[in-house]
Amino acid sequence: MPTGGGRLEPRRAEGIPADLPHFTVMRITVLAGGVGAARYLRGLKQAAPEAEITVVGNTGDDITLFGLRVCPDLDTVMYTLGGGINEDQGWGREGETHRVRAELAAYGASPDWFTLGDRDFATHILRSQLLAAGQPLSAVTEVLCRRWQPGVRLLPMSDDPVETHVTLAGPGGREIHFQEWWVRLHAATPAARISASGAERARPAPGVLAAISDADVVVFPPSNPVVSIGTILAVPGIRAAVAAKTVVGVSPIIGGAPVRGMADACLTAIGVETSAAAVAAHYGPELIDGWLVDDQDKAVTDDPALAGIAVRALPLLMRDLPATTAIARAALDLAQELG
Ligand code: GDP
Ligand code: CA
Repeated sequence: MPTGGGRLEPRRAEGIPADLPHFTVMRITVLAGGVGAARYLRGLKQAAPEAEITVVGNTGDDITLFGLRVCPDLDTVMYTLGGGINEDQGWGREGETHRVRAELAAYGASPDWFTLGDRDFATHILRSQLLAAGQPLSAVTEVLCRRWQPGVRLLPMSDDPVETHVTLAGPGGREIHFQEWWVRLHAATPAARISASGAERARPAPGVLAAISDADVVVFPPSNPVVSIGTILAVPGIRAAVAAKTVVGVSPIIGGAPVRGMADACLTAIGVETSAAAVAAHYGPELIDGWLVDDQDKAVTDDPALAGIAVRALPLLMRDLPATTAIARAALDLAQELG
């Protein structure tokens, strides 16, 4: 919930005569996972072309493979907004080949369950080189973004290592990296626990807390509430900074199911029902002020369990850029109404 008012129209500074063009731009900060966030951000850039958009990216999915540091969510945002994404897949580079991967397989190198294309490898090689030279992930991400020009400021949630781990249900439940559960096991083996390993010691990356506190609105795009947004909020200081702002979220759940992916398996692991209402209640009115649900979930707008959260229903399928832009616009409109 906001403690101070932030308006969404360009603000005219106090004491400046009305005829002088002295505007400050709207500042929007978005907590982002991968594919859902990246697509939403495309619409947000269209909806608010003048805005300064800062993206705080989830790094809990990051993993070291073949000695290289891979940051799937940061890269999905960077490639999508920079025009390098594989549109059909939603992740990875377009026009990709897999020669390096095939060579590694010929050596019997493991793991064999994670796909990395040749073009994508270059990103991970350069990132790993810069990290090994002592640069923090935030600086490395800035270097990578100089090529892609995503049109937003992309910050990792933290420069400190945080890895999402999944404890498998069942006797002697093994703890594995989130990627192994998601990619190798397709989240089909139930999770007893999902944890952000290292989060308690992590510090927000430089600029993250300021981007949140300086924002006119904080948006939760349609991202995984557990392993994307939940992980970002687990970095000490971020949840409190977000809670102090006007926050509007977009439901990643439509009609009781995720639109893509297996977010239901993650929600089940933390004891939250897979519904637009349950996700909003999980965030709670102390964190979010507004919540967009799909027309299919219209009934949620009067759900007493969501008291203190303004709920609006509209089509939430990001089927193309105009539809996505309308969703982004609706989030800003709701924030303005609430702020
Ligand atoms: P990931 O890191 O690539 O899994 O991506 P995110 O954390 O950004 O989350 C993906 C989430 O976006 C999933 O839970 C999907 O259900 C949701 N999603 C994908 N496409 C759409 C869409 O068109 N509309 C809505 N409302 N949600 C979507
Ligand atoms: Ca992800």
